[in-house]
Amino acid sequence: MSPVPYFLVRPVTGTTGETHRVTHMVAADHGQYGNVIRTKCGETFHPAELEQLSKPTGMPCIACMLASQSPRHLSL
Ligand SMILES: [Zn+2]
Repeated sequence: MSPVPYFLVRPVTGTTGETHRVTHMVAADHGQYGNVIRTKCGETFHPAELEQLSKPTGMPCIACMLASQSPRHLSL
């Protein structure tokens, strides 16, 4: 099974405090439901609240990073 591609998104300036403007991951194949975008960590946003990033930048969302790991990668 090939890995699922992800988009990187971050809340735009002014929508939340700077400490919450972390880089989230959104699964490309099932991250958007109508006008709601759900990140891998379970947060939901309106598309206008997010900017899409072309590369990782800023502080990453640790919960998204952990949620994106497949069991294969977690086993020792
Ligand atoms: Zn997240």
